[in-house]
Amino acid sequence: MTVRTRVAPSPTGDPHVGTAYIALFNLCFARQHGGKFILRIEDTDQARSTKESEQAIFDSLRWLGLEWDEGPDVGGPFAPYRQSERGDLYRQYADELLDKGHAFRCYRSSAELDQLRQQIKDAGENRALKPSDLILSEEEQAKRAAAGDSYVIRMHVPVDGRCEVDDMLRGTVELDWALQDAQVLLKSDGMPTYFLANVVDDHLMEISHVLRGEEWLNSAPKLKLLYEYFGWQMPRLCHMPLLRNPDKSKLSKRKNPTSINFYRRMGFMPQALVNYLGRMGWSMPDESEKFTLDEMLAKFDIQRVSLGGPVFDVEKLSWLNGQWLRDLDDNAFLDALMEWSFNRDYVAQIIPHIRTRVENFSQVADKAAFCFSGTLDVQASAFEHATLKPEDMKEWLQYLLWASESLRGWDRDSLFAEAQNISKAVGVKVKEFLHPVFVAIAGTTASFSVVDSMAILGPDLTRARLRHAIEVLGGVSKKQAKKLEKSWLRIQNGEALNDDPASS
Ligand code: GLU
Repeated sequence: MTVRTRVAPSPTGDPHVGTAYIALFNLCFARQHGGKFILRIEDTDQARSTKESEQAIFDSLRWLGLEWDEGPDVGGPFAPYRQSERGDLYRQYADELLDKGHAFRCYRSSAELDQLRQQIKDAGENRALKPSDLILSEEEQAKRAAAGDSYVIRMHVPVDGRCEVDDMLRGTVELDWALQDAQVLLKSDGMPTYFLANVVDDHLMEISHVLRGEEWLNSAPKLKLLYEYFGWQMPRLCHMPLLRNPDKSKLSKRKNPTSINFYRRMGFMPQALVNYLGRMGWSMPDESEKFTLDEMLAKFDIQRVSLGGPVFDVEKLSWLNGQWLRDLDDNAFLDALMEWSFNRDYVAQIIPHIRTRVENFSQVADKAAFCFSGTLDVQASAFEHATLKPEDMKEWLQYLLWASESLRGWDRDSLFAEAQNISKAVGVKVKEFLHPVFVAIAGTTASFSVVDSMAILGPDLTRARLRHAIEVLGGVSKKQAKKLEKSWLRIQNGEALNDDPASS
């Protein structure tokens, strides 16, 4: 058998370290068996998927040196590798399941679904929605079809009993059918869900082993059943332990930066990040801490993965990165440094903003230092202002942070538009609004345009600095975040916050 593995990220948001982690282990497993490693883009959620995010996945995985043999940008015998380009394929397979009686049309509205769920809860049952809850009489279906009501296609699932799933690390895992719902396979817009598209593509792309995050283990019975319905052999499954924050909760950007680009912009070496990801639940036979991707490939054995939740700890990563830097000779250090940010492209973005502000070159480094830093060590006192209150500034920064998280294009004009929008909503002049932004981003108000600075720094460092500033100004409690979220919704709707006396 030819081993074929894949990583199948959805291009939404920033490229996640979890994607790199799963990619790394799939790559190692494929190479160990002389097989192929595939990158497939799962972009069936059209509202959330973006081209920028897809490009960021390509760029960040390449930066890490995790190269794929087949994928959307390199092609391959099973192209296209982007689900949105695979046309009517999924509908045909959904129709096949309908014809075979393994799936059904479901006309239930979301209000009905809520009601059905409530009924199950009220009856004290701990189970998921089943076909028998959902299927309407023939007449009712005909009536809704005639009225042009939309429908989804769902799969049939057993009501109870146990399902056995084989996992390469855990052996046989037993899961309860009662908790598996009549999964939607095709949405009302004709797009497949993850379950249908993933199974169809893994089969058609001849994937032999699926190494994926542990979060998918609970729904594996539905995948297994789909393979049975189609009469296909299921790939071998291997659920990798989830990456965790130091407090053991699931790795999340609230507690830890999760974007690969953050680590890149912070000046980590890609080799060190790959090395660290390789140590997430896995170890070298000699337990060495520092190793290259090639060394990991040479010694790889999936059975060395341990299931205790690996902690992604930025301090440990930093320590390891330090080891990598120390082992570079002066020339290699210089090359890496120049590639990082002391390169023509990056410096050229800064020059137009400082050349008119200096009288000799010796003033350049001082003026541009914040463009070559990671997070800044700003203190609360730096935000002091004659009329603005720290509490208000903190709220504005939180709004700007949220704005920066949902911004699609990252350029000075979009950033300025957001600043204008928020300042209008909170009822202050843009100049006042930008005061804490300057301090957060550049460490001082005596700097060039802060929207240009944010554009140059990029989303990851900008957000990290805004977060740091919010913390320095006292942080936002959960309760406060709820209140601010409401105000943020109103800002996004173009409302002025002081329109409503209740909010002041
Ligand atoms: N698109 C899924 C994700 O984003 C892929 C999961 C899998 O590997 O099956 O995690």
